[in-house]
Amino acid sequence: MAQKQEIIIIGGGIGGLFCGAMLSKEGYTVKIFEQHYKIGGGLHQFKREGVSFETGMHIIGAFQPGGALHRICSYLGVMDKLSILPEDENCIELFHIACDQKKYIIPRGADRFVEALSKEFPEEKENLIRYVKAIGIICDEIKLYNLEIPDALFQDYSNPFAESVGDFINSFTGNERLRSVLALVNPLYAGDQYKTPTYIHALISNLYLESASRFIGGSQQLADALVGAITREGGEVHAAKGVAHIEIENKKIAYLLTADGEKHRADWYISSIHPSSLFELLDTSKIQRSYWQRINSIPNTYSAFTLYIIFKPGAFPFFNYTYYYMEDYSMTWEQNIYTLDAWPKGLMFITPPVTGQDACAEKMIVNCIMNFETVKQWENTTSGKRGAAYEAFKRQCEQKILHKLEEIYPGVKDCIQSVYSASPLTIRDYYGQKEGALYGVKKDCTNMALSHIPVRTKLENLLLTGQNINLHGILGVPLTAINTCAELVGMKYLLNKINERR
Ligand SMILES: Cc1cc2nc3c(=O)[nH]c(=O)nc-3n(C[C@H](O)[C@H](O)[C@H](O)COP(=O)(O)OP(=O)(O)OC[C@H]3O[C@@H](n4cnc5c(N)ncnc54)[C@H](O)[C@@H]3O)c2cc1C
Repeated sequence: MAQKQEIIIIGGGIGGLFCGAMLSKEGYTVKIFEQHYKIGGGLHQFKREGVSFETGMHIIGAFQPGGALHRICSYLGVMDKLSILPEDENCIELFHIACDQKKYIIPRGADRFVEALSKEFPEEKENLIRYVKAIGIICDEIKLYNLEIPDALFQDYSNPFAESVGDFINSFTGNERLRSVLALVNPLYAGDQYKTPTYIHALISNLYLESASRFIGGSQQLADALVGAITREGGEVHAAKGVAHIEIENKKIAYLLTADGEKHRADWYISSIHPSSLFELLDTSKIQRSYWQRINSIPNTYSAFTLYIIFKPGAFPFFNYTYYYMEDYSMTWEQNIYTLDAWPKGLMFITPPVTGQDACAEKMIVNCIMNFETVKQWENTTSGKRGAAYEAFKRQCEQKILHKLEEIYPGVKDCIQSVYSASPLTIRDYYGQKEGALYGVKKDCTNMALSHIPVRTKLENLLLTGQNINLHGILGVPLTAINTCAELVGMKYLLNKINERR
């Protein structure tokens, strides 16, 4: 590069940090501004009673040698800073359906997946083989998922790629119970059987089936390692420095103001925050109306209520898999359709591993799907000042979840030292995600053009990144960061650099 260009990144979550680390490595001068007092976004952890909890990154994948994140993190020089525990290969996921007290144990790997489910559904073996083959084909088609250079912007994909996930799953079997089991991971992508494109289901299912794992000691380690990679190259990462205003002149960002009143200029700007939050920072009359109105109109994914449990020492066993619990098969796609009396319809929980993990769990994190509507009456309040009614609502939700846990593990309440919780408002306020959306905007196969947000914007020197752009999560966001950085350094160049270490 002839000259060191300066980049400002808005938001120090996983998208901002991966972009920052890649561009620092490629010779750019990077500054990241994060509004929260702690860097990390979805990677950040908080402590209660000395126990540390992850907020938005509980199940990870692709960190196995040869996996996409292993390769990206090796290129960035951070892989050896990470401590990762693969989930139990004999049981990565346990699907527990209360109505018939059935527990489906899912082992690692596509072949073992077929073998395990064929024992439960012997007449469906051929269908299961076809299903995993179709998932494999879709994943192979997405070149970037395999860190290969995409053929073209709009390449031809196989038929099921962009059909609805419900149609896709239903095309393999008429067995309602098996349909439900195949769809049980859909809370990992806020699935809508009629609207979620199949490729999202395929990527997420494949990622976890092949490489589900967890950070030992929590996800903050990845954020800290990426900050280290940026600062080693001379970049700056500032927490508690939110971007408050973006000034536009002649279809370019002229400068931005941080909340402390400082003015900052750069050659390029990258926004990793929710696009609607971005538009609130600038004068939208200076950008094409149809552009920001279309993006602002994309619906968001649903949110969640999370229970954080601290166990009494030695009281509750550690398990190394993800536990899904649902009352009935028919609820698979309907966990976000509820009355508060019948909430929650499902639980997803883990016992996160700590350093030197022994047979007993220190803590548990339980996630239950919740719509923003449920907490809308408190939308104009701020953390710690939401009032007595909100606190009572949270206590009620905590008890509902504990009641269900007690059904799964009789006596669990006696093992608990204390509980804490977070609602969709917590997600909204801590990450700046509109409506506390778990995974940003909702992708819709019935209107792919609406939910597609390009990395390039209508402002010449502004690029976008983060979960709202392509795909969410531990792999989706770093892959989007590659897309974003490729606008500056070139896709072929960047992928070659990453793959050099293969
Ligand atoms: C409860 C929950 C559980 C999840 N579990 C998993 C999981 O197990 N596995 C998985 O793969 N994914 C999971 N996810 C999804 C994952 O956390 C997200 O996809 C990912 O964190 C998104 O990364 P991002 O960089 O787009 O956004 P974020 O990580 O949210 O980063 C955006 C950052 O921008 C900052 N920001 C916002 N506005 C401003 C501003 N004006 N100025 C400066 N900074 C600003 C925010 O504070 C935030 O730090 C979960 C999400 C949630 C909410």
